[in-house]
Amino acid sequence: MLVKFILPALTEAKSPFWRPIKYSLFPPLGLATLAAYLRADDVAVLQDEHVEELTLDDAPDLVVIQVYITNAYRAYRLADHYRARGAFVALGGLHVTSLPEEAAPHADAIFLGPGEDTFPKFLADFRKGQAQKVYFSPVRSLEGIPRVRRDLIKRHLYLVPNSIVVTRGCPHHCDFCYKDAFFTGGKSFYTQVVDDALAEIERLPGRHLYFLDDHLLGNAKFAAALFEGMRGMNRVFQGASTVDAILRGNLIEKAAEAGLRSLFVGFETLSETNLRSSNKKQNLGKDYRAAIRRLHDLGIMINGSFVFGLDDDTSDVFKTTVDWAVLQGITTATFHILTPYPGTQLFSDMENQGRILTRDWDLYDTRHVVYQTRNISATELKAGYDRAYRDFYSWSNIFKAAAQHDSLKHCLKHLAYSAGWKKFEPVWNFIIKTKGLNRSLPVLEAVLSKVRLAGGIAAVEGQRRETFKPLPVYSPGE
Ligand code: SF4
Repeated sequence: MLVKFILPALTEAKSPFWRPIKYSLFPPLGLATLAAYLRADDVAVLQDEHVEELTLDDAPDLVVIQVYITNAYRAYRLADHYRARGAFVALGGLHVTSLPEEAAPHADAIFLGPGEDTFPKFLADFRKGQAQKVYFSPVRSLEGIPRVRRDLIKRHLYLVPNSIVVTRGCPHHCDFCYKDAFFTGGKSFYTQVVDDALAEIERLPGRHLYFLDDHLLGNAKFAAALFEGMRGMNRVFQGASTVDAILRGNLIEKAAEAGLRSLFVGFETLSETNLRSSNKKQNLGKDYRAAIRRLHDLGIMINGSFVFGLDDDTSDVFKTTVDWAVLQGITTATFHILTPYPGTQLFSDMENQGRILTRDWDLYDTRHVVYQTRNISATELKAGYDRAYRDFYSWSNIFKAAAQHDSLKHCLKHLAYSAGWKKFEPVWNFIIKTKGLNRSLPVLEAVLSKVRLAGGIAAVEGQRRETFKPLPVYSPGE
């Protein structure tokens, strides 16, 4: 059986403002995970439209397409194309789970929620000619899952081919997040068996890893065992966490010892009112500055995530946020315009209030305003969002933020990482065109190398106990 797995390009990836490097970071791991359930005599092809032209004149028996909100229209066109050619088409992913009735007319089968339990069942049904129209499984487990088919991934086309996911979901329930929509009807946070995760890490070549888990520190027991097992592997890695997990216990020190060098942190907003109204309880009352200081003391760079347009935001939110992030020495920032994804609590609240302005899913890319704003106009919001990116990544602010670190090496790493990410677009474009992204990995590994702190981790531990007296959460004007 010939099975084709496709990740269609996100609409924004084709826009003139497209930063090719942003869409050449990670391979489609989810599809490679599903491909692992095929039999040895099946032939699998995996194509990612972000990094290659799709071949559309082939004749697979089965086509599996991953659908996100801003590639949904493209995914439906591809599905229609392959169905017209006689292939059986299966659609799954976040958008299909959120809006099954929209996706179903384009598919022979749709998958709701995660696929590790349903895809093997579907394959068995399909081979018998008895495939169902909808697959949903309330049973969720990662025990005994087969090895991800990394042989299908064209490693040379990605900057971070060693991306890895060892958990699914997140223990929290933020109203604007897709997570609850995707995992509805079953467990919404679960982990691999630690030994399986460590074995997968062992199989990955080189030093660098990027954990794409929503919340790598979300299960403290699992994360502690994982980091313990990684000690001595000589890895450097990046991942994501919440503020509260950084502040709790000594998990973050264990992560640093295992090789954590850069962390995506969802600060999202500096307003307690916004945190409360978004149900982002885990950030409420948490001392952002203390979390940042703890990471910096461990030599961990920070990618801060911020959302603009929450109801408590006013027109000064952009400057306040950028100034704060720069003064905190945050290395890179990801700004988003609030986006009510279908299936989320935020979407249903806004829909009930008549605030959804468009259902053109191409605009749901966190760069456009798709809802009726409150204290700020849509024009102001869009302009402020654009300005925040420009200001945060101005040379003067890059230098100012880098200068916040105590160690010279951390300053230099900050400069290299931040400027390298945002200021050398033509260089990235050239590397992508010459298909040399994977050869840039040693540079990234060097930038992520350890900052040696006086007295090492033990000294940091001591400092931390001193420093981490409860401090008030940030208030504007500091
Ligand atoms: S903490 Fe992050 S991943 Fe978890 S629900 Fe909130 S936004 Fe989603």
